[in-house]
Amino acid sequence: MTNTVLDSTNRNCIWESALRKAQREEELSLQEVTALLESNEEQTWELFATADEIRRRYVGDEIHLRGIIEFSNYCQRNCLYCGLRRGNKSLQRYRMPLEEIVECARMASGIGFKTVVLQSGEDPWYTIERIEQMVRAVKSVADVAITLSIGERPHDEYRRMRMAGADRYLLKHETADEGLYRALHPDCTYSERLRCLRRLKEVGFQVGAGSMVGLPGQTTQMMAKDILLLRDLDVDMAGIGPFIPNPDTPLGEAPGGTVEMTLKMIALARIVTKDAHIPATTALSTIDALGREKAWRAGANVVMPNLTPIRYREHYRIYPNKACLFDETRHCWTCLHRRIASVGRRVSTDYGHSQRSSGMKPASSSGEQESSTLGYQRSNPIGGSLATQYGGPEQHG
Ligand code: SF4
Repeated sequence: MTNTVLDSTNRNCIWESALRKAQREEELSLQEVTALLESNEEQTWELFATADEIRRRYVGDEIHLRGIIEFSNYCQRNCLYCGLRRGNKSLQRYRMPLEEIVECARMASGIGFKTVVLQSGEDPWYTIERIEQMVRAVKSVADVAITLSIGERPHDEYRRMRMAGADRYLLKHETADEGLYRALHPDCTYSERLRCLRRLKEVGFQVGAGSMVGLPGQTTQMMAKDILLLRDLDVDMAGIGPFIPNPDTPLGEAPGGTVEMTLKMIALARIVTKDAHIPATTALSTIDALGREKAWRAGANVVMPNLTPIRYREHYRIYPNKACLFDETRHCWTCLHRRIASVGRRVSTDYGHSQRSSGMKPASSSGEQESSTLGYQRSNPIGGSLATQYGGPEQHG
């Protein structure tokens, strides 16, 4: 036999053994995750079926809708792949007024959303006091869980956000390869990102990490490291989407990530984390109109429609041509119900908390005080006038 045949036979043996281990829910090594990510076309279907079965067993047939409110596109960082980077002078910057953020959340809750994700660039204009006020204000009018996605902050602030009533925090690690992380993030360090993720866990957040697929210079083994990091961090949520080049960034000419590899990563994230909440990302549906349905069949159980008022949305341009950019919230709600039914699943009507923190319940819309898992008392909702300190749409300086 030639070396090529031997290599291929050896690869198939590792793949077979890795898949059987995944089916028996045994822990996978870096080599095994890498082999599964390198599944050929035929093997890929078996991989997806395995992930789908683990999804069904651990998180059931419900799909959770988390509505995103992109409240500021200012960012102090300069990540090479992201259109919100401070170096992008062509982006019109905005901050939503607090009243508008709260009204979006109230409307979302009225329609039936049980989670809102408050997301922004890393915008230091939002002091901890402003973030606390935003969280309390949303909780006072909307019966929803709150996920914050606002980047790295001083560690003591995470506890205050949690105490103000925020339930979850998303902080994607983007890549678990330290060299690639350094190359893509000129003003952040991988070690600080991990410290933030661990601190978020310590203060009682349900924590989400996640990565991009198809970054320039990224190998399959680096992606396998992304998957194993999700396990090491014991994440409650895992967001995985394709890298989509943005022409307004230094990586504008690079090739993007593929649908197939993104789906394999979602499948591996499910196999390895078992019960984490995993979205079918908007980035995936941007490169494939049926990306959501494919992701739900490969292990995902969440979708995150955009609730940001339409006039701001085109300015939150991490990558171009975002799917459903101008769809009204009610239209999204109806459309997603139909899509979810089309894959034989149903929309969840509960908060969709992490299964590891069952029993957690977000504050009621009456604003009454409740104990949290940290044992503190939630404090009162917004007190009027600070809302006026929030600005409207602005041009970048
Ligand atoms: S990835 Fe996040 S931190 Fe980096 S530039 Fe974009 S919004 Fe800012």
